[in-house]
Amino acid sequence: MRPYIFSFRLSGITIRAEPSWLFLVLLVAWSLAAGFFPDAAAGLSTPTYIVMAVASALGLTVSVLLHELSHTFVGRAFGLPIRNVTLFILGGAAELEEEPDRALVELVMAIAGPAMSVLLGFVFLALSPALGAAGAGIAVTAVVDYLALINFVLAIFNMIPAFPLDGGRVFRAIAWLVTGNRLTATRLASYLGEGFAWVLILAGAAFALFAGMAGAIWWVLIGLFLNSAARASRFEGEARVALSGVTAGDLIAPGTETAEPEMSVRRFIDERLVRHHSDWLPVVDAEGRIVGGAGVNQARAVPAADRAAMPVSHIAVKPETGALAGAEERADHAFMRMRRNGLPRLYVTRDGRFAGVLTLADLSEFVRLKALFDRVG
Ligand SMILES: [Zn+2]
Repeated sequence: MRPYIFSFRLSGITIRAEPSWLFLVLLVAWSLAAGFFPDAAAGLSTPTYIVMAVASALGLTVSVLLHELSHTFVGRAFGLPIRNVTLFILGGAAELEEEPDRALVELVMAIAGPAMSVLLGFVFLALSPALGAAGAGIAVTAVVDYLALINFVLAIFNMIPAFPLDGGRVFRAIAWLVTGNRLTATRLASYLGEGFAWVLILAGAAFALFAGMAGAIWWVLIGLFLNSAARASRFEGEARVALSGVTAGDLIAPGTETAEPEMSVRRFIDERLVRHHSDWLPVVDAEGRIVGGAGVNQARAVPAADRAAMPVSHIAVKPETGALAGAEERADHAFMRMRRNGLPRLYVTRDGRFAGVLTLADLSEFVRLKALFDRVG
């Protein structure tokens, strides 16, 4: 479990911020207190600028959360489960359990975030003169002006047509409507996202090196993030198609080797690990119940003198949360769970008994081969 600087639940959604969000917010607050506000509202004291910067950072956090929640609630209205909204160094993300299965849903959901940012921008824009007329000082109106500006910036940045940014999702939905094919649309959108990411990386590096703009390093960081996100979404798109109609049970290797819980660690090493050239095996009892998994690392941790007397059940590691799958589970669901939770393998059961192991490597290879032959054929 990663540490979060805050985490709370709101109508079934976990809203949380990674420590990197704090870094971003502190950076923004510092640049506001040191440069932006002394320019925009001259003649105030340093403590006032600091208070203004902190208020703005809080306002920015709320603005980004409202943007993500707008995606979330619109997605939910269409029946798409979203459990987490996470803030991190590059902004916010609403984590979809499942991608929309209709282009129009994707389109509406993608636009919902920037639409909220534009709306907030106009609200702050209208609020500033109203507060001024009501007697609020420049310290207050400058913060409100900044929040108007940052919400418009958020809307514009997110509408850049680079998948997985909102604009890229809009592009994909339109390409999907036009071509009638989600995979083609996903590929087009992710290539566009990758291309845009490279422009950001190269331009950021060039500006930072040759024009002395230290802030352009930020573009490189965003570009690297977008690049890997675009590639991951293309791979996931291909995986969904390749794995459709296939179950977890279909993909397990036949005749998976196991270890019995009561066998000694000594025999486990000699007769299983070494003889079968494996570095890990599931530990399963005679009734087909899964005890866990054990491998080279667990076996090596046992002193040589204790290995003959200690049973394997003693060193077996229990399956991680989410690491159990029924043989009938859809393979694309199993695949996404492994990727999202960073699970290297799933224990597959059939009628409550252990049936085999499904590894991420097996699935990825299946997807790669399927895509290869689908493209040729
Ligand atoms: Zn968004």
